[in-house]
Amino acid sequence: MKYSIFYDGSFQEHEGDYFKVYDPSNGNVLGEVPNASESDMEKTIESAYKGFEFWRDKTAEYRCDLLEKLYDLVIEEKENLAKIMTMENGKPYLESLGEIVYGANFLKWYSEEGKRIYGQFIPASSENKRIMVRKQPVGLVYGITPWNFPFAMITRKLAPALAAGCTFIIKPAAETPLTALKFFELVERVGFPKGVCSLITGDAKTLTEVAMKDSRVRKITFTGSTAVGKLLMKQSSETVKKISLELGGHAPLIVFDDADIDKAIKGTLASKFRNCGQVCIATNRVLVHEKIHDLYLEKLTEQVLKMKIGNGFEDQVKIGPVINKKGVDKIDGQVKDAIEKGAKLVCGGESKHVGDNDDVGHFYKPTILDGVTRDMAIFYDETFGPVIPVITFKDDQEAIDLANDTPYGLASYFFTESISKAFVVAEKLDYGMVGLNTGAISAAQAPFGGVKESGIGREGGHFGIEEYLETKYVCLEI
Ligand code: NAP
Repeated sequence: MKYSIFYDGSFQEHEGDYFKVYDPSNGNVLGEVPNASESDMEKTIESAYKGFEFWRDKTAEYRCDLLEKLYDLVIEEKENLAKIMTMENGKPYLESLGEIVYGANFLKWYSEEGKRIYGQFIPASSENKRIMVRKQPVGLVYGITPWNFPFAMITRKLAPALAAGCTFIIKPAAETPLTALKFFELVERVGFPKGVCSLITGDAKTLTEVAMKDSRVRKITFTGSTAVGKLLMKQSSETVKKISLELGGHAPLIVFDDADIDKAIKGTLASKFRNCGQVCIATNRVLVHEKIHDLYLEKLTEQVLKMKIGNGFEDQVKIGPVINKKGVDKIDGQVKDAIEKGAKLVCGGESKHVGDNDDVGHFYKPTILDGVTRDMAIFYDETFGPVIPVITFKDDQEAIDLANDTPYGLASYFFTESISKAFVVAEKLDYGMVGLNTGAISAAQAPFGGVKESGIGREGGHFGIEEYLETKYVCLEI
């Protein structure tokens, strides 16, 4: 099937070339998607800019009603959306379904929050002055999203942008544009005014350079790697665009000696293996107190050995494919490096390839490495795969130092039954998010985001809508 890009309120005929989208579990071609040109991008921006002039003046109620209709349609179509997601991303079907519902929650939440964008009156220093502050939409927003969450990363941006009165252009990842295209069929059914939502596919660098040079694009919102995030930060300075970046992570998970071990195991599995470990908030380093190390490792290994690996549509499968060869090579390289430097392979450490396409069809067994130390690449680099490196510590301060020894600062997790330790450690971890006795932290109403090289800004909750608003000060002399 050949797909089209979406702007000016409908799917557009495409005259240029296309690129292929593959099933990462077997290499089958799923469809062909437009390789949009610079001129397509210019037309999309033109339409979104015109759309903004109209959309910004509509009432919050009008905008939010349309978002709510979109939510209803997504819920109605959730199984179809989830099937497409498993086909193009490989994650187990139930995980895809979970992501659709999670992603839909942003539409619902911002369809409510969009009605609560309030200004302020501030007491002036002169009797004849009035100081008013109003919140206004930033303008035309361009969003770029990764392949690991093909749906939720889009709605987490689109919903607050539209609710705030901005118009929105999305460029999904090349590996997973089909879920986004299916979602835009629903956008079309809702009947948003022309230019309010647009979707473009094609060469990321080319399309983004067009948007970066255009001063009508007032904001860039990006989820992806830290390397690309840094590049976008530089490029956006040309026209001083507002910018939100959700970048890489390197989450520590600390198990203190007073932890409830079963809870810690549950949290480790939940935070590590979703989407085959290809998650920015996935646990990347487990730090375990030496006193409970053996018990934790024994219980963890027992659970990891039970995990079924395979095609995401098969019953009971917990681990799907790695997205591509580059991904599997990175995982394998980190595991081999750790073993060479003295880590013990407890389980896993093997990959298998299915199909004839060398780039896709790669599976990696869930892996545990024990005795990981600071000199190994896995200690510092984001793995993006189903590998648990285990590191031991002797006291609380050492655990905190190990956890913070990274340029990243997205998610972190720790397990303790001590209330005092809970407060102290939560304060000392240099991370934007902390899971305390839990490995599952994402929620539409909570502020998601990182510090240090993990990004700028927050998505979700009332914090998320602020990213799409400007503060205007009006001073009246009477
Ligand atoms: P990536 O290479 O940075 O790609 C992400 C998006 O950026 C894709 O749409 C990609 O387009 C686009 N892109 C690539 N090069 C670009 C350029 N020069 N200019 C503009 N856009 C460009 O990241 P990835 O490997 O797909 O995703 C994994 C990374 O995302 C990990 O580091 C992960 O931690 C991070 N992530 C962060 C969060 C968070 O919320 N903090 C959530 C999920 C993932 P193409 O696909 O067309 O190349």
